[in-house]
Amino acid sequence: MDAVEIVERARRMGIVLSAEDGVILARPKGVTPPDLAEAIRALKPDLLRLLARPEPPAAPCPGCDGCAFWRHRGPWVCERCHPPVIDPLERFAVPVSPRRVDTATPNSRNPLIPDVIRDKISAIETEARVLGWPPELLYGGSFWNFPRALSSVLDDDDEIIEVTRDYIAILRVRRDLLRFARAH
Ligand SMILES: [Zn+2]
Repeated sequence: MDAVEIVERARRMGIVLSAEDGVILARPKGVTPPDLAEAIRALKPDLLRLLARPEPPAAPCPGCDGCAFWRHRGPWVCERCHPPVIDPLERFAVPVSPRRVDTATPNSRNPLIPDVIRDKISAIETEARVLGWPPELLYGGSFWNFPRALSSVLDDDDEIIEVTRDYIAILRVRRDLLRFARAH
């Protein structure tokens, strides 16, 4: 059982877990079964990270101007640029100013990444997201302080050949000299 499963199991039992001052609280009190309490103790650091609620975004998405955000384990993520592939733990909508006109188009997804790189990442995004890769680790985004994203290590000629929970394997196409001879 990982931290997300603990929160979901508790929720099914009508127990709400929260993190306050480095302590995991379960409400209502006195109804948490011993094995769940044991799991909570064992995974306390993970739970504190999961339950610590990041400040919701103060402004629309810088990439697409969208106002709908969601989060599961990590930071708030734009719902239009990165639709959730799993059920989010939380949703948040940035209040829209009535004067703001929504001009976003599908092409505004991650506008700072070259098309060829974005296409390579899009091709594996669903698979990677199911395996727990957060969008900011795939596409980056300076506003989330993730300087080292997949998008920043991929070259135009690279191919993504494997996506696992722990790593994404990239085949670097080497430019070795090859002589194609007419006669052998
Ligand atoms: Zn967006």
